[in-house]
Amino acid sequence: MNSLTRASCQALDERDCLSSFRDEFVLDDTVIYLDGNSLGALPRTVPGRLREVVLREWGQGLIRSWNAAGWMEAPTRIGGKIARLIGADRDEVIATDSTSVNLFKLMVAALRLRPGRPVILSETGNFPTDLYLAEGVAGLFGDRQLRLVPADAIGFSIDADVALVTLTHVDFRSGRLHDMERITAEAHAAGALILWDLSHSAGAMPIELAGAAVDLAVGCGYKYLNGGPGAPAFMFVARRLQSALRQPITGWMGHAAPFEFAPDYTPAAGIARTLSGTPPVLSMAALETALDMWERVDLAAVRRKAARLGDLFIRLVEARCSGFRLASPRQASERGSQVSFHHPQGYAIMQALIRRGVIGDFRAPDLLRFGFAPLYIRYVDVWDAVEHLAAVMAGGEWDRPELKARARVT
Ligand SMILES: *Cc1c(COP(=O)(O)O)cnc(C)c1O
Repeated sequence: MNSLTRASCQALDERDCLSSFRDEFVLDDTVIYLDGNSLGALPRTVPGRLREVVLREWGQGLIRSWNAAGWMEAPTRIGGKIARLIGADRDEVIATDSTSVNLFKLMVAALRLRPGRPVILSETGNFPTDLYLAEGVAGLFGDRQLRLVPADAIGFSIDADVALVTLTHVDFRSGRLHDMERITAEAHAAGALILWDLSHSAGAMPIELAGAAVDLAVGCGYKYLNGGPGAPAFMFVARRLQSALRQPITGWMGHAAPFEFAPDYTPAAGIARTLSGTPPVLSMAALETALDMWERVDLAAVRRKAARLGDLFIRLVEARCSGFRLASPRQASERGSQVSFHHPQGYAIMQALIRRGVIGDFRAPDLLRFGFAPLYIRYVDVWDAVEHLAAVMAGGEWDRPELKARARVT
């Protein structure tokens, strides 16, 4: 530990096989960006591509671009590019809408596939939108209810009443990683379906949806995938379930033949039946351009580096700063790509760090959350971030009224 220096971090960066990716992002060297788990950084290729879509495809191509520029196929084409990242086949993934809307569609579809089973099972600490939607969906059916149990009680809470188990793979607060394969098998053994939210794991680690026999999944386009603020999200439906799947937002884009303008609804074959309305072409283009970079990324290397960055951060914070209590699993194999610490003054400390250009975020009631996106975070960034944190604490820099006033987005 004592032998760890900034120079040894630099040496780690020199040996890092992912180091060249950093130059592919627009990043300000005065900022250490530890929030790529909330909003991924901007790939350099995106602005130029957006300019081209706006001026050439929209400006000149006009409505012809729906065919000529492949706008119409964007949801399935982009879904196909996400497939490799999550261990699925290309025709099992689609990019559309938001994670929240996609959760709604797949939760309703899952309950319809399991009539007579009254329960949606999730964990108390799941991401709020996931819980709110499960509650909303249960209420919509009238005879279903949401049952919440602590994370470690999921396994033995799956009984014959459970229609759907819905969980987030990596916990947004602690970064704790669920055992996808085991819980999926437990759900199936009880006759339930499983829906995984991959928002904090897609692009952070290899995921094997097919290998784990997962039924349904959703995930976010603007976190590790770097698709831009409010980027389209994605949905996965295992091929074996696609022909029976009935999602509730039966818009024309999910119809078998949208341009026949038939009065009644016939779902499209395959994953396309999960679509509802017209794709947001500009946002789709940003996400697709970001995904083209992911084609060259080795996810196993991403996972290894994320573990090392997180381990390094934990060691340095614990050695140099007092008053922080680790909220994430200490074992890297048990956490995603983020590390969180409890501190009673967490909000003000994070504001003081942000003033210094070290950007993480805060989650109530007392969590400082730091995300390590391995494509653009270096080992020296971890070193420097802890240097700043130590200085903030030593100088009492956080102890100012203006740093304690909560902003709308924390
Ligand atoms: C980020 C995130 C979402 C985001 O949902 P939106 O519909 O994009 O607002 C949903 N679920 C989880 C687990 C997330 O981490």
